[in-house]
Amino acid sequence: MGIKVCKFGGTSMADGNVMLRAADIIKADRERRFVVVSAPGKRFSGDIKVTDLLYQCSDAIEAGDLSAFEKTFAKIRERFMQIQKETGKDVGMAQSLDLIETEIKKGAGRDYCASRGEYLAAKIMASVLDIPFVDATEFVRFTVDGTLDEKTFELGEEILKKCGKAVVPGFYGLDVNGKVKTFSRGGGDISGAIVARSVMASLYENWTDVSGFYACDPRIVDAPRWIPELSYHELRELSYMGANVLHSESIFPVRSAGIPIRICNTFRPEDAGTYIVQSSTRDFRENVVTGIAGKRGFTSITLEKSLMNTEVGFVRKILDVIGNHGISFEHLPSGIDTMSLVIDNEFLKEGTLEQILKEMQEAVHPDKIYTHEDIALVATVGHGMAKNVGTSARLFKALAIAGVNVNIIDQGSCERNIIVGVEGEDFAKCLRAIYNEFFI
Ligand code: ASP
Repeated sequence: MGIKVCKFGGTSMADGNVMLRAADIIKADRERRFVVVSAPGKRFSGDIKVTDLLYQCSDAIEAGDLSAFEKTFAKIRERFMQIQKETGKDVGMAQSLDLIETEIKKGAGRDYCASRGEYLAAKIMASVLDIPFVDATEFVRFTVDGTLDEKTFELGEEILKKCGKAVVPGFYGLDVNGKVKTFSRGGGDISGAIVARSVMASLYENWTDVSGFYACDPRIVDAPRWIPELSYHELRELSYMGANVLHSESIFPVRSAGIPIRICNTFRPEDAGTYIVQSSTRDFRENVVTGIAGKRGFTSITLEKSLMNTEVGFVRKILDVIGNHGISFEHLPSGIDTMSLVIDNEFLKEGTLEQILKEMQEAVHPDKIYTHEDIALVATVGHGMAKNVGTSARLFKALAIAGVNVNIIDQGSCERNIIVGVEGEDFAKCLRAIYNEFFI
């Protein structure tokens, strides 16, 4: 008998009734032995995720605003008390909430605060399923530089296999000082993959509120084509570029062990979902492009200098400037006497852009330096692209016909993706043009 690890996202934990539905899904298959949960998400549009409320609590504590903290914490309390009531289980919720409130007030820290939604949701699910609760702090470990410590898998194997079945809260673990540390937002998907790898699962099921991946964002393209199967590589490219179904880092723990991932819909469990596998078995002749994804909100910084190509260390000096600010770049297109850096605007808040431009000026004395602050990046991804002559010609022709001006072109040497940078305002037009060319 194989072992399946099921991770349930925030909408699948949104209230007690949905939790009971998730429990029915788990009970319907004896192989579903390990469960990882997110904090309760939105119940309706306009609702606030528990994790967001917890971050608000942490902001209030940091600002020394106790009354704002108490007001927000009261909303969290009400939500969890209601969930406890709906599930019909007594997990000592009131006492747990009192304890958490005290710890946060005593300064337990931002990550501890943010992690409590998962912690409490897992307590409830363990009680509903009547299987052990195993806290993520028992085995998920981070290294000094904040990355996942490899010993997590050994510890996880030891602890989880002993239990045989368990519910584990997603999203956090322990840092080297023994303090709770969270992954980046949406990181419960990574926790699910960690558990899958620790118990060497035959399948990692990721239960969410959509029936898998689609070839384009349904908010931009009407009823886009469903993708039955993706490779790990394709998934990484699409999710990094904004396909919001699964955290882009969640493949790493399972990829080396070859554990497939299945995206499933808690609200339509009969749907096939999307399988994510080592290498896609789809026929590349029929599936030149697997999917298209993109994001707005990037800035390009372009530097021009005569004889840049002969100046040893030019690019290194520029990268040192952004590296010293803890900024990573998305793309680095270059010509003989020009280079551009494409950076996520998230890194460029509060005067940072002005500061790094000044430092670049001092470091390399360019003839010209200029920025473009509303760039959208769109990635066209597919393992079939390398084998089909004329794919990029079709893509650029489609963009030309649609009147989309392309500012940046980047094709990975693996030929699995073509990334274009366009004006932010052309974002949707760009996605639609590429989708229509390859899918309609
Ligand atoms: N609750 C966390 C978030 O909202 C983590 C997760 O749901 O995966 O980002």
